[in-house]
Amino acid sequence: MKLNITCIPGDGIGPEIVAQAKKVLDKVAEVYGHEMEYKDVLMGGCSIDAYGVPLTQETIDAAKSADAVLMGSIGGNTSTSPWYKLEPSKRPEAGLLGIRKALNLFANLRPAYLYPQLSEACPLKEEAAAKGFDMLIMRELTGGLYFGERFTKEVDGEMVATDTLVYKESEIRRIAIKAFEVARKRRKSVISVDKANVLDSSRLWRKVVEEVAKDYPDVTLEHMLVDNCAMQLVREPSQFDVVLTENMFGDILSDEASMITGSIGMLPSASLNDTSFGLYEPSHGSAPDIAGKDIANPIATILSAAMMLRYSFNLDKEADSIENAVRKVLEDGFRTVDLMQTSKGEGFTQVGCKAMGDAIVERIVNL
Ligand code: NAD
Repeated sequence: MKLNITCIPGDGIGPEIVAQAKKVLDKVAEVYGHEMEYKDVLMGGCSIDAYGVPLTQETIDAAKSADAVLMGSIGGNTSTSPWYKLEPSKRPEAGLLGIRKALNLFANLRPAYLYPQLSEACPLKEEAAAKGFDMLIMRELTGGLYFGERFTKEVDGEMVATDTLVYKESEIRRIAIKAFEVARKRRKSVISVDKANVLDSSRLWRKVVEEVAKDYPDVTLEHMLVDNCAMQLVREPSQFDVVLTENMFGDILSDEASMITGSIGMLPSASLNDTSFGLYEPSHGSAPDIAGKDIANPIATILSAAMMLRYSFNLDKEADSIENAVRKVLEDGFRTVDLMQTSKGEGFTQVGCKAMGDAIVERIVNL
């Protein structure tokens, strides 16, 4: 199979970590007989330096003409970088919002998996960490409270601020379909999170999700109120497989879920539209404090490349081979400096970004 991938290395550690992910993809291509074609484009601070804007039409066109986009991270030090003296619409992050909009990426997938080898980094009680967890938060990304009408005005002598939370049936249906499709590739369970005891938008959400569920009799559906979900995530995270939720709830719950893994450098993400196209990137930022030192952890980006193979190319075995290789390097004691800090005991080897990429490449095998 020929895979046409646009890469946006971005700023800070972005170029270093994307280079490792490409190395791993090249090895997968060699082992499984695929052909990778990459096109690198600029976005974020580096695009401001080159073209005066964080996102150019050329970058949007390159993304649209690819089967998938693999991204590093964009942005600089928000206190010292000259990029942050520009008005907000010209700063690096505006590029990110712009490309998500241009590509209609309405579904955000954030897996949170606790590697047994890294369970010491988990801030939960030992019994919860010992059971492990492997969940995926499916967050609606382009509707709800963050995109509703908002205004502030004076009423009866005081200021009143209003934000509106709007969802159309069609917006709920398309994200619910994504959640059930993804659940079919996992443990076939969806927990839909809402606030249906209070909000009309949540009651519509529940109704539409139940309608969609009828087309997926092999996947179980449960509903959970968002306040309960926030508690259950720290009490018993092993109960979750796919968590389907609207934009604001997903914003909060996905950060909570990533926090309990304890390792920012390990968390991939995907943003999808209603085709197989997706944009894949680590959940962390551009870490300008460690850029260019060859110490960044490339695993979140490498796992994002695995998600790309799974969700945009339907290459499950190839994705498994990457995830397997990551588990293997951790088992074999390889740690980047961020992981070293939480790895207690003997038998660990501290490696840099490139060496971690090489160690993963060496462990890619035909499963
Ligand atoms: P950050 O995630 O870049 O860094 C937070 C801390 O985690 C830092 O100490 C950093 O060194 C460390 N860290 C992050 N990724 C790491 C990795 N792979 N390996 C080892 N250590 C890692 O968050 P921040 O410092 O708040 O933001 C820095 C810049 O990134 C800002 O400009 C911000 O706007 C941008 N940002 C971009 C994205 C994106 O592109 N999607 C997301 C978040 C932040």
